Amino acid sequence: MIESLLEICYLIASVTFVLGLKLMGNPRSARQGNLIAAAGMGVAIFGTIFLHEKEVPMLIYGLIGLALLIGTIAGWVTARKVAMTKMPELVSLFNGMGGACAALISLIEYPNLKNETGSLIAVLAGLIIGTVSFSGSIIAFMKLNGSLNKAIRLPQYNILNTIMMAVVLGLGVVMTIVPELNNSVNLYILLGLAVLYGVMFVIPIGGADMPVVISLLNSFTGLAAACGGFLYDNKAMLTGGILVGSAGTLLTIIMCKAMNRPLSNVIFGAFGGGNSTGAGDSAAGGTVKDIQISDLAVLMNYSRKVVIVPGYGLAVAQAQHVIHEIELLLQSRGVEVKYAIHPVAGRMPGHMNVLLAESSVDYDKLVEMEEINPEFSSTDVVLIVGANDVVNPAAKTDPSSPIYGMPILEVEQASHVIVNKRSMNAGYAGIDNPLFYNSKTSMLFGDAKSALTSLANELKNLG
Ligand code: NDP
Repeated sequence: MIESLLEICYLIASVTFVLGLKLMGNPRSARQGNLIAAAGMGVAIFGTIFLHEKEVPMLIYGLIGLALLIGTIAGWVTARKVAMTKMPELVSLFNGMGGACAALISLIEYPNLKNETGSLIAVLAGLIIGTVSFSGSIIAFMKLNGSLNKAIRLPQYNILNTIMMAVVLGLGVVMTIVPELNNSVNLYILLGLAVLYGVMFVIPIGGADMPVVISLLNSFTGLAAACGGFLYDNKAMLTGGILVGSAGTLLTIIMCKAMNRPLSNVIFGAFGGGNSTGAGDSAAGGTVKDIQISDLAVLMNYSRKVVIVPGYGLAVAQAQHVIHEIELLLQSRGVEVKYAIHPVAGRMPGHMNVLLAESSVDYDKLVEMEEINPEFSSTDVVLIVGANDVVNPAAKTDPSSPIYGMPILEVEQASHVIVNKRSMNAGYAGIDNPLFYNSKTSMLFGDAKSALTSLANELKNLG
C-alpha cells in the first residue's frame, strides 16, 4: 500500500516536471511552470522521506530535517538576494551542486553494490558525469563572476583534453569489465581524474563561447541525476534527470547553431578558437563620434522605425523599465519599435527575454536574430544598449577574431546606429568592436539607466 502511494507521488512529480517544462517555454507562463514543477518536487521529496516500510530511527529524520532546513534557508536567501546580473553565475553554481549531489550518491552507493553490472555502470557514469559537471560549473561560475576572466590554455590543450577524456572513460570501462580493478582506490582515482577533466574542459574556453559550455554542463547534471534515478529505480529522479539532460542537450544544439560551432568541437576540446588575450585584441581603431541626448531624442522622435538591441549592460544598469518607457513614448508618436534579441546576449540563455519580461515589454515585440536581420536595412535608428559582442562585425570580417563565424545582429545596415555604453571597453569576448568606428555609428556614453532616463525626459519635452 505504502509502496503504491510512493509510486503515485513519483508519478505526480513526473507529470508536474513535464507540465512545468512546457509552461516554461513561454515567458508569460514560465513562473507558473516553475512553481508547478517545484511543488511536484516537494511531493517527491516528502513522499520519499515518509512513505516507506522500513523503520527509520528518529535521529535520521532529525538529520534529514536539519539538512532540508539548511538547504532551504540557504537557497531561499540566496535566490531572494541575488541581483539579476548575478543570476547566470548563481545558475552555474546551482548546476554544479546538482552534479556534486549525483557524484556523492555514487560514492555513497558504491560500497553497497552487489555484482550487478547495470548498477555499477550507473554508479560510475553518475560519478564521472556529475563530477565533470561539478568542477566544470565551478570554473564557469568563476568565469562569469569575473574572478577568472582569462582563457587559460596549456600547449596542445585540445590533444591533452581528448587524452584526459579517454583516460577517464577508459578507467570507468576497465573498472566495469575487470573485477580485480573494481575497487575503492580506483574509484577515488576516477573521482580525482574527473575533477581534473572538468577543470581542463572549461578553463580554455574563451571568446564568446561560454554559453554553449554552460548549457552542456547543464545537460551533464541532468544525465548524472538520471543515473541516480536508474540506480534507485526512482521514477521521479529518472524523469527529472532525463528532462534536464535532454532540455540541456537541445539548448546546447541551439546555442551551437547560434554560435555557428559544431557540437563535436565542444566535446573534443577544439573549442573556443582564436587567441583572445583580453581587451584590445584585433584593435579596430579609427575615430569615434558621439551624440547629444537632445539630438538623439529628435532623431528618434521623427523616425519611422526604431530597433532596440539590448545586451548585458542593460541588465547591469537595470535599465529595462526605462527602455520600455522609451518604447511606449516612441510608439505614442507613431514610431514602430522592436527589440532585436541575439541568442547569446547577456550572460545566460534567454537573459534578455527574462529581463524585458520583468518590465512587461510585450513579448511579440521581441524579434529573434534571423527574423530581425533582414529588417535592419529598412530601420531608421538602431539603439544598442549595453551590447557589444553580439553586434561586432569582426565576427564576419576578421578570421583571426575569437568570435569569427558567430552570427551577429547586422545593425550596420540601418541608417543610424547609436551605441550606449560607458566607455570604449570591450565586452565579454575581450575584443575591440569596429562598429564603434563606423561612419553611421554615434556613441552615447554613460550608464544605460541615467542616459536612457535623460533620453526619456527629452522625448517627453518634445511631445
Ligand atoms: P558584452 O559582454 O559583449 O558587452 C556588454 C557591454 O555592456 C560592455 O561592452 C559594457 O561596456 C557595457 N556595459 C556594462 N555595464 C553597462 C552600463 N551600466 N551601462 C551601459 N553599458 C554597460 O554583451 P553582449 O550582450 O553583447 O554579449 C554577450 C557576451 O557574453 C557574448 O560574448 C556571449 O557569448 C557571452 N556569454 C553569454 C552567455 C549567455 O548564455 N547568454 C553566457 C556566458 C557568456 P562599458 O564597460 O564600456 O560600459
